Amino acid sequence: MRQVIKGKYIFDGEKLLDDKEIAVEDGVIIETGKGLTGDKIVDLGDSFIMPGMTDAHIHLSGYRSGNFFAEGLTLDSRDHLLMAVPWLKTLLDTGFTSVRDCGWENSIFLRNAVNNGVIVGPDISAAGKALSQTFGHGEAEFSHTVPVDLIERMGGFACLCDGVDECIKTARKVLRSGSDFIKIITSGGALSQRDNPNQEQFTLEEIRSIVREAQKAGTYVAAHAHGDRGARNAVEGGVKTLEHGTLVTGETLKLMAKNGVSMTPTLTIIELIAKYGKVSGLSEWAIEKIKEVREGIEKVLPEAMKLGVNILCGTDLLYITRKELDIGRNWMEMVLMTEICGLTNEEALRTSTGNIHKIGLKQGMIAKGFPANIISIDGNPIENIKDLGRVNSVFKRGVQVK
Ligand SMILES: [Zn+2]
Repeated sequence: MRQVIKGKYIFDGEKLLDDKEIAVEDGVIIETGKGLTGDKIVDLGDSFIMPGMTDAHIHLSGYRSGNFFAEGLTLDSRDHLLMAVPWLKTLLDTGFTSVRDCGWENSIFLRNAVNNGVIVGPDISAAGKALSQTFGHGEAEFSHTVPVDLIERMGGFACLCDGVDECIKTARKVLRSGSDFIKIITSGGALSQRDNPNQEQFTLEEIRSIVREAQKAGTYVAAHAHGDRGARNAVEGGVKTLEHGTLVTGETLKLMAKNGVSMTPTLTIIELIAKYGKVSGLSEWAIEKIKEVREGIEKVLPEAMKLGVNILCGTDLLYITRKELDIGRNWMEMVLMTEICGLTNEEALRTSTGNIHKIGLKQGMIAKGFPANIISIDGNPIENIKDLGRVNSVFKRGVQVK
């Protein structure tokens, strides 16, 4: 069956088209144009049509608060897995037809359930467990005093490995568990107590060994890094995406542009911790550490844009907040990009659409051959970025799910 979807504007992931119609067959976009015919016409009136969005950095933890330690001790990992299920429907209904989970064991099982049609949700690119050194950010939300075996038993976020041999073995184990890519941690962070965002984590040799394992399996590595040393090691080690990048120098940004390394600035989590960390149960030290990171990214993102680094929309949301920054309001990341870092609305829109395609994923574009993951919006987000919160219909592989 040939379906034609029509609206007032079509943004293809990079720019506005003159075309007003999209032809879809078997869940795939066949062509865009004017006056197209089909077996079924879906007229979306004055709507703004664009590709389904991607949140390129989320953690499908299922956690209900920022008090990870208490929740981790009092609930079973299976409770958390099930509590993440409704997040997926929320994400899809709000226009996110894909997410990339940057570290949580749940993501592999949730991806399988979506792919098997057991639950409804966006496509999930799953990291499974992230790789961290001992005494690193992978011990996030634990105090670096909790027994290591308890962290590994309780936490869905990361596994700890040290030295090239252990890194290779752990990378292989994570790939074996079904991860789509490997997430590593190459600097300290805010939500881990005794390491500093500027602290370098993993050696260059350890990073290279993991990147090599990922490449052999036909995939890539995403690295968490705030400070410049850790970020530089990740970029030199061959990662494909740099997560956060809040304190990197111009030299590292230039190298990223040259090597085609994308950056996910995760403004949402930074604002969230700064504004609501205390009420959501986060520790005092985490709120203190976020200040430097928040000041850093305000300068780094505009510079990265100027130097031609590919920027991705990723919220780093990892628990339910009930604030204006929450699962279901992931589009606020793009609002923050414009308000805090001065991106144009169109530049911000690309970060969740066309720029995602640039990391090698077949998504984020309305173009021939792409899956028909299409959304429509009341209003026009190129004129008012907050219209992204007014999604009125969602198509996943050509099937209208909202
Ligand atoms: Zn994260």
